[in-house]
Amino acid sequence: MGGRCSAIEEDGFRFDLGPTFFLYPRVLERIFKLIGRDLHSEVPMVRLDPQYRIAFGGGGELNCTPDLARLEAEVAKISPADAPNVRRFLDDNRVKMEKFRPCLERPFQGWHDLVRWQLMKLFPTLKPWSSLDAELGRYFRDERVRLAFSFQSKYLGMSPFNCPSLFSILSFLEYEYGVWHPLGGCAAVSAGMGRVAREMGVRFSLGEEVKEVLFDGRRAVGVRTPSGEHRADALVINADFAHAMTTLVPNHLRRKWTDERIAKKKFSCSTFMMYLGVEGRYADVPHHTIHCAADYPTNLGDIEARHVLSADPSFYVQNACVTDPGLAPAGTSTLYVLAPVTHQHGNVDWKRDAPAFRSRLLKKLEGVGLGGVEQRIRFERVVTPADWESRYNVYRGATFNLAHTWGQMLHLRPRNKFDELDGVYLVGGGTHPGSGLPVIYESARITSRLLLSDFDRDAEWLGTPGAAESPVPVAVS
Ligand SMILES: Cc1cc2nc3c(=O)[nH]c(=O)nc-3n(C[C@H](O)[C@H](O)[C@H](O)COP(=O)(O)OP(=O)(O)OC[C@H]3O[C@@H](n4cnc5c(N)ncnc54)[C@H](O)[C@@H]3O)c2cc1C
Repeated sequence: MGGRCSAIEEDGFRFDLGPTFFLYPRVLERIFKLIGRDLHSEVPMVRLDPQYRIAFGGGGELNCTPDLARLEAEVAKISPADAPNVRRFLDDNRVKMEKFRPCLERPFQGWHDLVRWQLMKLFPTLKPWSSLDAELGRYFRDERVRLAFSFQSKYLGMSPFNCPSLFSILSFLEYEYGVWHPLGGCAAVSAGMGRVAREMGVRFSLGEEVKEVLFDGRRAVGVRTPSGEHRADALVINADFAHAMTTLVPNHLRRKWTDERIAKKKFSCSTFMMYLGVEGRYADVPHHTIHCAADYPTNLGDIEARHVLSADPSFYVQNACVTDPGLAPAGTSTLYVLAPVTHQHGNVDWKRDAPAFRSRLLKKLEGVGLGGVEQRIRFERVVTPADWESRYNVYRGATFNLAHTWGQMLHLRPRNKFDELDGVYLVGGGTHPGSGLPVIYESARITSRLLLSDFDRDAEWLGTPGAAESPVPVAVS
């Protein structure tokens, strides 16, 4: 259950497989509220302060706190001239987010939707011609400060130098709505949703792989699993889009999204993962630390353009037990280590290259306050891009799905009501609005509205897309 947002549980250790930053809880707060539940009662979570530390390979670090006065002081330590611009950046992005939010909450089923929602009017705000890094350059001169407000493009598996400037809203969302840690990890959110759904009468068949989608002409009429054929009036596909299409749906039924065309699309980066259960706890290491390579642009070029493993990789360490000691047996703790790397490419053979890359990362950990880590390992699991592809059904191991370029967003992303086939709907990172937990939950709401309307059922209760937001009461534990 939970897919990328599930947990690895072994020997008393519990790790999130994928997501560790729970952002913008508003989307799920609303969904819970619509069904008469309270997200924070169902899934207790804590807001982190500091949200994370960013350590720059070339020197300097920032403890990123949502307390703006303290944040300005942090920025001033490495770049006094940039500190006064922090609030201007956040204020401008509050406006941008409010203008763009309706686009995140409604479907884009074709050009007509772009015209109807007058997206052109938003161009001066969204600046589709500008990269995220260029946008940050309007506020911050120091490249480390620019990085602190743009590395979030990695949540989409993209470099800030290629990522559209629109995504400056990501760092804004962190400061405005918080970086949260659900107790038990982000997988506890999937488990909580599953529990509530069961209480409401939903039935799940877990561990039963779909082998084929069944068609009558272009209309999907069900699926075949090892237990037999299952007929349905409509099919909602949550599996990784490119993987599902290329393995479950015959190629001749698709025109825009044939196997050949999918192969030519741009895909996100992948991740090399180490899940370590270690003796003791690194009490001085924060919950989240992002370690940026000394030469960040070269590291990004290795990932996205050259498709080789960096000699000096950026990486991220989650030391979750400083917040949530229940994730490990007494006297031990968990370390989750993630290095963004190229998606599957002929240049890298993970069978051959994983051991050396693992050693490189362990050496790096030694140098960043995690002394003696290798000797302290009591549990270890490594997941490579090859594993994402073969074990977790992720096309090319591109963990963040189809890249979020303007050519692959809105109506140009696979549509929530999938127009290539009849009776097929999509949710998840491969459809609109895109990858990352909050927008994936939003994709489910968008798709549910379309599905209910198509079956003449009430969709009103799901709320009006883009409607003004009233605050959702939050019970913080
Ligand atoms: C390492 C990593 C770190 C991340 N960090 C963050 C983060 O901090 N914050 C954040 O918001 N997002 C993060 N993300 C992104 C986020 O995890 C994903 O965007 C999201 O979980 C993807 O959800 P999904 O429903 O699209 O796909 P999935 O979670 O992959 O769900 C697809 C489901 O379909 C199932 N499936 C596939 N094929 C079949 C089949 N043939 N039959 C039956 N079932 C099938 C799979 O088993 C899976 O359960 C991270 C992702 C990764 C990998």
